[in-house]
Amino acid sequence: MSATPDLLVVGAGPAGVSAALWAATLGLCTTVIEAGASPGGQLHHIHFRPLNLAGSAPGDGPAIAAALADQLRANAIETRCGVTAAALEPAAPAVRTASGERIAARAVLIATGVRRRRLDVPGERKLEGRGVSFSATQDRARFAGEDVMVAGGGDAAYENALILAEAGCRVTLVVRGRPRARREFRDRVAAVPAIDVLEATRITAISGDDRLRAVRLDGPRGAFELPAAGLVIKVGVIPNAEWLAGALERDPEGYVPVDEHCGTSQPRVWAAGEVTHPPLAGLAVAIGHGALAAAAIRTALRGE
Ligand SMILES: Cc1cc2nc3c(=O)[nH]c(=O)nc-3n(C[C@H](O)[C@H](O)[C@H](O)COP(=O)(O)OP(=O)(O)OC[C@H]3O[C@@H](n4cnc5c(N)ncnc54)[C@H](O)[C@@H]3O)c2cc1C
Repeated sequence: MSATPDLLVVGAGPAGVSAALWAATLGLCTTVIEAGASPGGQLHHIHFRPLNLAGSAPGDGPAIAAALADQLRANAIETRCGVTAAALEPAAPAVRTASGERIAARAVLIATGVRRRRLDVPGERKLEGRGVSFSATQDRARFAGEDVMVAGGGDAAYENALILAEAGCRVTLVVRGRPRARREFRDRVAAVPAIDVLEATRITAISGDDRLRAVRLDGPRGAFELPAAGLVIKVGVIPNAEWLAGALERDPEGYVPVDEHCGTSQPRVWAAGEVTHPPLAGLAVAIGHGALAAAAIRTALRGE
C-alpha cells in the first residue's frame, strides 16, 4: 500500500465508489477498502435494469457493479477487496481491519451501507437459496404456481406479494404487527384473491430438509404451521455500522447522522450513502452523496 493516503473510503458500494472517483478528480490520493469480493454493494442484489437511474445503465445491478470496478481500475484508485473494517480510531484517523491491520489516512469516509434484516429464526440460514429468498423478482420463476409466503409489513413486502401472485402463486403475507405499507400497496393486495394477509403474526421457525416445506407461525389463533414451497423475507435493513460503536455518534437505529457536508460527530470522519439514513434510499442518492462528501473532504484538507 502507498504512504498515508489523503482519503480512506470504507465500503465500495455506489456511494464509496462515487466518492473515490470524485476524490481522484479533485487530486486526493485515495484508498478504498471493501469487505466483499468486489465493488458494488447492494448492486449485486438488483436483478433488473434500474428504471430510476438517470443515464444509460449498462444492464442489471451486477453489470453496473462491474462498471464501477472498471472505473476504479481506470482511475488507478487503490481498491482492496476482502478487507473488513472492524474499528475506527476517529482522532488519528485510522481504521483497524478484521485481520488486525491499521490503515491511517488524513480523512476517513464511511460508506458501508446497509444489509438486509433477517428473521433470525431456526431454519432460516440452512434453507437460504432452497426456498428461503430475499427477492421475489429473482425467484418468481422458481416459485411459480406454488404456495409461498412473504414476511414483512412494508411496501417491499406488499410489492413482493403482488409479484408472486402475478406468477401464479397462492401467497400468505405474514405481517408481524400492523401493516406499514402505503395505502396504494394495501389496496392492490386487498384486491387480489390469491393473497391472504395474516396480521399480528410472527414466523417462529422454518422447516424442511433439502428444501423449505413448512413455516411455523404464532398469531392471534395461537401457534400453527402452514406448508410452503417458498418464503420471501422483506423485513427491512440494518446499517453496517456496528464497528463504529464508541467511536462515532449513531442514532437509535444505528445509522450515522451527518450534516449537509456529510460531516459526522468526528472532525476527520465523513459518511455517505445509506449508512447515513438519507430520506430516500437509492442509487442516485448514494452516488450524489459520495460526490458531496468527496468535495467536503477536499475543502477540509485544503485548509490544513
Ligand atoms: C433488491 C434491491 C433492489 C434495488 N433496486 C433499486 C433501484 O431500482 N433503484 C435504485 O436507485 N436503488 C435500488 N436499490 C438500492 C440501492 O442499491 C442502494 O441505495 C445503494 O446500493 C446504496 O449504496 P451505498 O453505497 O450507500 O451502500 P451499499 O450498496 O450497501 O454498499 C456498501 C458497501 O460497503 C461494504 N461494507 C459494509 N461493511 C463494511 C466494512 N465493515 N468494511 C468494509 N466494507 C464494508 C459492503 O460490502 C458494500 O459493498 C435496490 C437495492 C436492493 C437490495
